Amino acid sequence: MLSQLPEQADPRRLCEQGKGYQGRVAFRDLARLVPLLTSDEGEAAFTLRFDQDEQGRARIRGEVRAELRVRCQRCMQPMPLAVDAVFMLTPVSGLREAEQLPGEYEPLMLEERLLRPLDLVEDELILAIPPAPRHPEAACEVDMRRYARAEAPEAAAGSGDAEHPFAALRRLKRDTGNGEPE
Ligand SMILES: [Zn+2]
Repeated sequence: MLSQLPEQADPRRLCEQGKGYQGRVAFRDLARLVPLLTSDEGEAAFTLRFDQDEQGRARIRGEVRAELRVRCQRCMQPMPLAVDAVFMLTPVSGLREAEQLPGEYEPLMLEERLLRPLDLVEDELILAIPPAPRHPEAACEVDMRRYARAEAPEAAAGSGDAEHPFAALRRLKRDTGNGEPE
């Protein structure tokens, strides 16, 4: 279970051999992941098990755990993102083969015979990052008043009372649809 993860391997062959790997990888060694993070400090823990199911189908089961630092898309500050992913893949050579898989499997499309097993770990971390990560509202550092003013500069200027401190707030209330009748 603790054998060294190969740099390149034929995944079907690893499944025939019943190989298993457990280890840790530093984020800075994952070149596709690093640009999505605010810090490359830290590492991910992983388990990869290659075997065959009852039908003799090649099966790769994995677990990846990490705490990533990503940028909140509301306040633009770093935020922690815990990843605890479990996956089950089977290598396929084409779409047709992928469509015929039992539902519990995710197809692993192989363009070449060999793959870098660490790519499976890296892919899982990348997939775990939402398109626009955000802090929970209470934890977010965004200044809602400044946010509202930046959104409505022409309204404040055009109304002739640009100094009115509540102009932006009123507009915000109208926009969200729960403003009270005037
Ligand atoms: Zn935030």
